[in-house]
Amino acid sequence: MRSLLRRCVKCGAYTLSRDRCPRCGGEVRVPHPPKFSPEDRYQKYRILQKLLSGRLPLGEEARKKILREFYGGESS
Ligand SMILES: [Zn+2]
Repeated sequence: MRSLLRRCVKCGAYTLSRDRCPRCGGEVRVPHPPKFSPEDRYQKYRILQKLLSGRLPLGEEARKKILREFYGGESS
């Protein structure tokens, strides 16, 4: 499910409003960072390396999810 939360670009307030900030009337945006920023890309490799070497204490589900994102996320 996508987040319903928005963030005002003017005053930085978080809101559920989809078009205008209730505080200052500014534009609101979804606050999530871009999916593959340069930092994220390297972090992804570090996480994968840890994961494959067994140093991440993750359950099987989380492990599969990360592997799926890693191998499936680059093509789009
Ligand atoms: Zn605002």
